[in-house]
Order: sequence, then C-alpha cells, then structure tokens
Amino acid sequence: MSTLPQSCKAKTPLNVLIIGAGCAGPALALLLQRVNPKHTITVIERFPSLRTGGQQLDLKAQGVPIARGMGILGDLKAACVHETGMKLVDKNGKSLIQFGINDSSTPKQGLALTNEYEIMRGDMVKVFYDGSIMERERIERGGETEGGLTYKFNTTVTRLDQSDSRAEVTFSDGQKKHYDLVVAADGQNSRTRRMAFGDETNAKCFRSLGVHAAYFEIPRIESDHSDARIFFAPCSRMVMTRTGNRSTTQVYLFIMKDKERHERMKGVHKQSLEKQKEAWTEIFQDAGWECKRFMEGMKTTEDFYAHEIGQVHMPQLHSGRVVLLGDAGYCPSPFTGMGTTLSLIGSYILTGEIAKHGDDVDAALQAYHEGMQAPLQKYQRIAGGAETSFYPSSEFGIKITNNVLWILSSLKVDKLIMWVGGLLPESKDELALPIYPEPSLGNETRD
Ligand SMILES: Cc1cc2nc3c(=O)[nH]c(=O)nc-3n(C[C@H](O)[C@H](O)[C@H](O)COP(=O)(O)OP(=O)(O)OC[C@H]3O[C@@H](n4cnc5c(N)ncnc54)[C@H](O)[C@@H]3O)c2cc1C
Repeated sequence: MSTLPQSCKAKTPLNVLIIGAGCAGPALALLLQRVNPKHTITVIERFPSLRTGGQQLDLKAQGVPIARGMGILGDLKAACVHETGMKLVDKNGKSLIQFGINDSSTPKQGLALTNEYEIMRGDMVKVFYDGSIMERERIERGGETEGGLTYKFNTTVTRLDQSDSRAEVTFSDGQKKHYDLVVAADGQNSRTRRMAFGDETNAKCFRSLGVHAAYFEIPRIESDHSDARIFFAPCSRMVMTRTGNRSTTQVYLFIMKDKERHERMKGVHKQSLEKQKEAWTEIFQDAGWECKRFMEGMKTTEDFYAHEIGQVHMPQLHSGRVVLLGDAGYCPSPFTGMGTTLSLIGSYILTGEIAKHGDDVDAALQAYHEGMQAPLQKYQRIAGGAETSFYPSSEFGIKITNNVLWILSSLKVDKLIMWVGGLLPESKDELALPIYPEPSLGNETRD
C-alpha cells in the first residue's frame, strides 16, 4: 500500500453508514479515510462474512488509474486470473475463432475480448476490504485518535427516516442511530434504494435485458485449457467457460431473449437453490458441447449464483442524505463488464466531491450525481446494442453463423465479427474524470 499524503478539506468529519460490503462499499471506505481520517465510517453487510462468491470481474478504463491511486493496483494484479484469450467453439468443441487479450493501457488493438485485469470477484472484494482496513491501521499508526472504520456483519437496515441534514437508521438488531450520510452500496436489488426512493421509482429503475444468467464452478479436467470458450447453443442458449490458470472451471449459462423462458425464469430466481438448479438443468441438459458434464458439476457446486440481467437507471443518485453507489445506483449489467469500474469511478467522484464541498454535503451529493452522468452515459451503453444484437436461435442459424464467423475470422475482418456476435468491446475513447486537488486521491498517479 502506498502512503500518500492526506488532505482534510472536509472540515467537519462525517458520520457515514455504508450499506453493503461488496466491491463498492469497501472501496469508498478506503477513499473516504484518505481525504479525511477523522470520518467515522461504519460498513454493514447482510451476510455473516464477506460475500466472496461470483466469477471473473473486469477492471478497465479509468478503474485502473483509480485503483493505482488507491494503492491497491499491485494487489489486484497479483490476484489476476491468467487467461490466455477467448475462443468461439462449435458443438464438438472445435475452435472457430480466437480472440486475444485486451491490454488496458493500449488504446487501439485487434480482436480481443479477454481483459488485462480479470479477477475473481471474491479476490477483488477482499482486496478492497483489506485495503480499507490497512488504511485505518496506517492512520492510527500515525497517531490519529478521532474517527474510525467498523465493519458489522449479519446486519441490515429495517427502517430509514430522514430529516434535513441527517438520516435516522434502525438496524436489524433494533438499535437506532443517526448518520450525516447513508451510502447504499447493496447491489443491483438494493433494499436501501427502495426505502429511500419509494416503491414506484425503485420498480421503474430496473431495465431488464430479457436475459438470465447462472454462474458456478466445477472441477477442471485436462481439456479445460486456459482460453475462455463460448458456445452458441440452439434455442437462444449460450454457454461460456473460463479456466485460466485456476484449478476449477467457471461455467456461465445464458438464456438469451426467449419470451416464454424469460417469464418462467423471473419466478425461478425466487425459488430455493435446489429448484433453481433443476430449472437450469432442464433447459441446458440437451444444449450440446459439454453441457451434460456442466450440469453434473452444477449439482454439487457451492457457489451457484443466478440472476436476471438488467441495468439500473435512476433519475437522481441521492435522496436527502441517502446516496446510491455501484450497482445499487447504476448497475450496467455484466454485458458491459463495467460494474466494478463504475463502482470505483463512483467512489472516486463521491469522495472527491465530499472533500471539495467541505461541510456542504448536499451540494457534494448533487455534484456527484452530475459528475456521474458522463461515465454512466458512456459505460452503461451495451456493446453491440442489447436490444438489437443478433443472436442465432435455430440449429441452422447457428451453423450459418459459425461458418460466417469462421470465414470472417480467416479474413481478419475483426470489427464485423464482433458486430455479428454482438460482442464489440467498449470503445477506448478517453473519458476525462474530474481532477480533485486532494493529493490523497492519487491524482498525481492517474494517467
Ligand atoms: C454473490 C455475488 C456474485 C456476483 N457474481 C458476479 C459475476 O460472476 N459476474 C459479474 O459481472 N458480476 C457479479 N456480481 C455483481 C458484481 O459484484 C457488481 O456488478 C460489481 O462488482 C459492483 O459491486 P457492488 O458493490 O455495487 O455490488 P455487489 O457486488 O452486488 O455487492 C453488494 C453487497 O451488498 C450486500 N447487501 C445486499 N443487500 C444488503 C442489505 N440489505 N444490507 C446489507 N448488505 C446488503 C451484498 O451481500 C453484497 O455483499 C456478483 C454479485 C454478488 C453479490
């Protein structure tokens, strides 16, 4: 961890509650302490310990220099999965196209879908969490006695009331406390968002992409090599595996647009884990390639996670003293690969604005809302256009698509291939983030 100098423009230290210890919550806790070690920060998590499930996440674009400024890029790099690239395979596992690795520092490259920073979600969450704790230890070693950082697990909020300049929170253990700021970092289905913005706004903010996904790990076998593999199966099904240098293989199942299955799966996500696995098995058992093996592995996997893929679009990112961060405020969907990067951008801008506006927290929250609009416009855009991207459904359609892709690949018409697959990566155009005067935000190390 770097020991960057501190700056305390926020004159009055804040009493901050962060709800959710995923990626966004601990990242914000680290940054807030940097600009004012006197802040009192409490992070609560619904689960009894850090929730380390989930598969590979990307760190891209401005997420990389922000992580460098936070002093955790080295730790993230050490946790990277070493994937060699990505292949499109047919139902016999034969490779049709090979994609390379996307170096986050090089603006324009050829056909590349694997990213330079691909990290298992559990490792990523742990780096942010450890980083925030180490920051506090560093502050206390320096002699600071005010402020603090506390993580409370197995804890949720049952009631949220707001007055002019503070929020009154009732916790699941019955305790009541007041905070200057409550940060909802509780993910795509944020309950805090519903409490603060009301049922109607909450219901409207989730835009389903009509796609459902399940992620889990199975034992690796010899033929699971270090390239990720994608398989288009008939009836709007897609399967992906990722192994890299790890001893297990991650399996991703996608049910692409299919009205009937979409309606069914919406209900399935609310059922027991066992019932969910049954439904996914029924749909993928006959999909071809190695799906029978994947379904066998799913039976005993312990980190099964399935959800409806969609985006969160909020008209405002704050309501009184409650502010939305990460997926709770602007989940971009895994199709963009920008969930973690946007959480870091959000943490950086929120911290920067709080520091910049000193004691005027309301002005800081409005500036955060405004500052996030450009990144959201850019990074919530789905590559290839989720509504229009072409996805082959019939067996015949897949055969034709695979043949066309093979020919295009041989001709190295990369952009066209990406368009056909709906797989164009995000554009590499630079987006200028605000530069805050606080040296402790690591501006001097941002590219
Ligand atoms: C278990 C899990 C697996 C995931 N797997 C993938 C994946 O494979 N691929 C992918 O692209 N994205 C995945 N994601 C989403 C990804 O982590 C986010 O898009 C991104 O990292 C932004 O993080 P976040 O902190 O905003 O949200 P999240 O990572 O979703 O974290 C939210 C945190 O808040 C906690 N929480 C939720 N409700 C409450 C509550 N009421 N009170 C207190 N705490 C609460 C959750 O337990 C979680 O720890 C997963 C998320 C989770 C929770």
